[in-house]
Amino acid sequence: MKYDYLIVGSGLFGATFAYFAKKAGKKCLVIDKRPQLGGNVYCEEVEGINVHKYGAHIFHTSNKEVWNFVNSIVEFNRYTNCPVANYKGKLYNLPFNMNTFCQMWGVTTPEEAKAKIDEQKSEAVAALNGREPQNLEEQALCLVGRDIFYTLIKEYTEKQWGRKCTELPAFIIKRLPVRMVFDNNYFNDKYQGIPVGGYNKLIDGLLEGIDCKTDVDFFNSEYKDWNKFADKLVYTGAIDEYFNYSLGKLDWRTVSFKTRIEDTANFQGNAVVNYTSHEKPYTRVIEHKHFEMFGQEVYDCPKSVVSEEYSTEYKDGMEPYYPVNDERNNQLADQYRKLAANEENVVFGGRLAQYKYYDMAPVIEQVMEYFKK
Ligand code: FAD
Ligand code: UDP
Repeated sequence: MKYDYLIVGSGLFGATFAYFAKKAGKKCLVIDKRPQLGGNVYCEEVEGINVHKYGAHIFHTSNKEVWNFVNSIVEFNRYTNCPVANYKGKLYNLPFNMNTFCQMWGVTTPEEAKAKIDEQKSEAVAALNGREPQNLEEQALCLVGRDIFYTLIKEYTEKQWGRKCTELPAFIIKRLPVRMVFDNNYFNDKYQGIPVGGYNKLIDGLLEGIDCKTDVDFFNSEYKDWNKFADKLVYTGAIDEYFNYSLGKLDWRTVSFKTRIEDTANFQGNAVVNYTSHEKPYTRVIEHKHFEMFGQEVYDCPKSVVSEEYSTEYKDGMEPYYPVNDERNNQLADQYRKLAANEENVVFGGRLAQYKYYDMAPVIEQVMEYFKK
């Protein structure tokens, strides 16, 4: 039997594509080179806790259609991301809001906070002498002033990007929200949460009744001659690999995780703690149970699983996580995209095949739009 679609990759793009194709009466085969389905949202159960194996994932969107759709597959819980920053043992709320300003300066009203920020910003703005901020350090100093920059931004950013703030582009920090209210919600989106029972439930729901094969690498399998098996190909792997790196290799930034079991029910009291000084080599510590357990549930589960996150230089064989946003890579990706546009009956979808950083909701939205057409 010939399939309508061979789908390479069972991440959110591939799984959502298979779901809508099936609904449209099409037959799909999904293959993935990993031993399990779900791509980067896959969770591994350890001590009764869903561990986000490929990085912490928080679903957030303002698109009601996408939100209703994912909730039709699996119910979402009330998790709201409120990361805390630890600078040399002192804790601050994120994103920068009235709680942070109170912890930093002891101010208690928006007016006092604004006066303090304005005073600190004015030094940085004066130093620019009328020109635009040229790098991340100048941008951050003009946005929030020196105290916040040196306590919560400088060293964290240097750890994360492996470069000095003066050598990084200003745009990375442009979107950091500054809030004059006591609101620790990291995202501005209308809807947010984690699937009840974990992300695997979402993937299982999307792929229900669809033929799937794991441990199958497209390029080292019979499926490479996909025409024999399907009318169309949906490819969600790396775009340069599809073209056998003919124009050169794209760079990626990656993260490595050191995960351990802690013999305590509540290790750090929050899902996400950022370490914003060089004192610790990792950028963040994730305590996975707090994504899905609230109140007494935290203590009903006697152990905890925590992951330290280290920003790591990408080498062959590592997991490609974030596209590198510089001129060489942007140009190379454009050239590959031109080649991709000429491939007949092939859909290039998702973050690896498009070489773009996408959150989960936009990936689902893209597939929904494709099927509307
Ligand atoms: P993926 O999930 O990567 O799936 C691609 C799949 O293709 C993989 O399973 C891979 O094994 C398979 N594959 C690749 N090549 C081959 C091949 N040759 N043969 C067979 N199979 C192949 N988004 C949010 O909205 N909120 C968050 O908090 C968030 N946190 C993130 C944290 C990290 C560390 C990262 C990297 C991303 C995060 N994201 C987050 C983004 C989210 O992971 C992506 O939007 C989502 O994974 C995109 O799905 P995808 O299908 O494009 O890619
Ligand atoms: N950032 C920071 N301190 C923090 C958190 C973030 O300075 O505690 C900066 C840092 O430069 C980072 C950027 O804000 O690269 C974006 O951070 P965000 O958490 O939004 O993105 P992610 O780390 O998920 O890519």
